[in-house]
Amino acid sequence: MTTFADLGLSQKVLSAVADAGYTTPTPIQEGAIPPALERRDILGIAQTGTGKTAGFVLPMLTMLERGRARARMPRTLILEPTRELAAQVHENFEKYGKNHRLNIVLLIGGVSFDEQDRKLERGADVLIATPGRLLDHTERGKLLMTGVELLVIDEADRMLDMGFIPDIERIVKFIPFTRQTLFFSATMPPEIQNLADTFLQNPVRIEVAPPSSTAATVVQQLVACGGKDFEKRERLRELIRSQTDLTNAIIFCNRKKDVADLYKSLEKHGFSVGALHGDMDQRSRTNMLQGFKDNEITLLVASDVAARGLDIPAVSHVFNFDVPIHAEDYVHRIGRTGRAGRAGAAFTMVTRRDAKYVDAITKLIDREIEWLDGKDAIEATSGDSDEKPGRGRRSDSKGTARRSGRDDKRGRDDKPAPVAVAKDVPEPAADEPAKTAAKPAPKQNREERQPRQRAPEPANANANANDDRNNRNRNRHNRDNDDRDPTPVGFGDEIPAFMMIGS
Ligand code: AMP
Repeated sequence: MTTFADLGLSQKVLSAVADAGYTTPTPIQEGAIPPALERRDILGIAQTGTGKTAGFVLPMLTMLERGRARARMPRTLILEPTRELAAQVHENFEKYGKNHRLNIVLLIGGVSFDEQDRKLERGADVLIATPGRLLDHTERGKLLMTGVELLVIDEADRMLDMGFIPDIERIVKFIPFTRQTLFFSATMPPEIQNLADTFLQNPVRIEVAPPSSTAATVVQQLVACGGKDFEKRERLRELIRSQTDLTNAIIFCNRKKDVADLYKSLEKHGFSVGALHGDMDQRSRTNMLQGFKDNEITLLVASDVAARGLDIPAVSHVFNFDVPIHAEDYVHRIGRTGRAGRAGAAFTMVTRRDAKYVDAITKLIDREIEWLDGKDAIEATSGDSDEKPGRGRRSDSKGTARRSGRDDKRGRDDKPAPVAVAKDVPEPAADEPAKTAAKPAPKQNREERQPRQRAPEPANANANANDDRNNRNRNRHNRDNDDRDPTPVGFGDEIPAFMMIGS
C-alpha cells in the first residue's frame, strides 16, 4: 500500500501530515502528488470530500521550501469560487504548513483592502483568492502576477456555474506561460474541457469516482405538509423534536430570505441554530460555520450555494425545508449525511405544489422515496401557499422581500400572517404547473439562481448564451461579493441587450 512517504513529499510536510493523523493517501493524492512535484500540469477530476485539497497543498508546500517571496509578487496562486472554500484551503495550509515559515495570503471579498495590501506587501508565498477580489487588487496596481510559478484553479465547474470564467481567463493572461497549472473540477462539461485544453500543457489526467452520495445508509423520507410558511415551520419543529438520534443537522432552504426567516424562527423557539447565506457578512459566516463544526450549534440553516463544497463534518440529519428545484441539489444535500458508512436520515418537506420537483428527483436517483405518513397524507394538507417555488417571493437587489408587510410580522411566525401577500403575479392553482413553467421566470439573485445548463440542447443554445452573458455582466458588478447577489447598477435586473454584447 502506498504511504505518504512514497510520494516524494518533504520531511516537514510528512511530519505535519502524520500529526494530522493521516496515514494513507487518498486516490487523488496518490495520483496528483508525484506528478505535481515533477512540475507537471494536472487535470484532476474530483470533488470535495476526496482529499483533493491536500492533493495540491502538500506538493505546493514541498516545492515552496526553496526560494522566497518578493513584495507584491506572489509565488503561487490558488483560485477558489467562494470565500468559504478559499478559507478552507487557507486552513489546510495552516494545518499542513505548520512546520514552514511561509506567508499565506487570503484575498476574499468582505475584508478590508488595506489589510490585504499590507499582507501582499510582505510578499506572498501562497495567494488564495476569489476571482473578483483578485482582479480588484490587480487593477489597483497592488499586485503583480508575473512571479506566479504555480497556478491552481479549483472547483472549475462551480466557477462556470457562478459566471467566473471570463474573470479566470483575464487572470490567467497576467500569469507567465511558463507556470505550472493544477486544474480541478468535479465534472467535465464541454466548456470546462475547453478551458482545460487552453490552460494546461500536456497534463496528467487523474479521475476519481465521486463518493456515492445517496448512500444506502441514509434513510430518505418525504414529509407531507401544508403550503403556508407557518405550517412548514411548525411541521419542521415537530420533525426535529421527534428525532431521537439527531446529533446535528443541516436544514436547506431554496432561498436565502427563507434561510434568514427560518433561522430567526428556530432561534425564537429555543433551538441551537445557525445560518449560512450569501447576505451575511464574512465574520458571521465564519463564526456560524466554526460553531457548527465545533458542535456548539446543532442546526445549521443554509442555502445550496452557501453550503455546497464546504467541508462540514458529516451530519446525522438533513432536512429539506423546500424541495430543491434542481434535482441534482437533492443529491448534494443528501450527501451531507450518512458519510463513511454511518447512518443518516434525510427528510424532505413536500407541499402539494412540489409534485413535479419530487418526480424529477426520483427520476434522477432512480428510486422512489417513501412517505413518512403514507402517500395520502399530502391530500390532507392545505394546498394554499404563500408563494410559488422560485417565484412570487423574489428578493430585490438588497435581498429585501417584496412581500409587503412580511418583515414586520416576523415575531408572529407561528400564526398565519394576517396580511395580504403582495401579488405581483397571479397565483396559479396548485395543479397548474405547466402555466407556471410557461411564464418567464423571475430574474434570480445569484444565491437563488439556477446553475447553468450544461451541454445545452441546440434549441436552447441562444438562451444559454444569453444566460452566460448575463452571468458575466452580473459578475462584473459583483466583485466584492463573489458569492452574493449581483445587480447591475442602474438597470435593476433588466439589462438592455446591447449592454451585454462583448461584456
Ligand atoms: P477535501 O476533499 O480536500 O475537501 O478533503 C475532505 C476531507 O478529507 C478533509 O476533512 C480532509 O482533512 C480529509 N483528508 C484529506 N486527506 C486525507 C487522508 N489522506 N486521509 C484521511 N482523510 C483525509
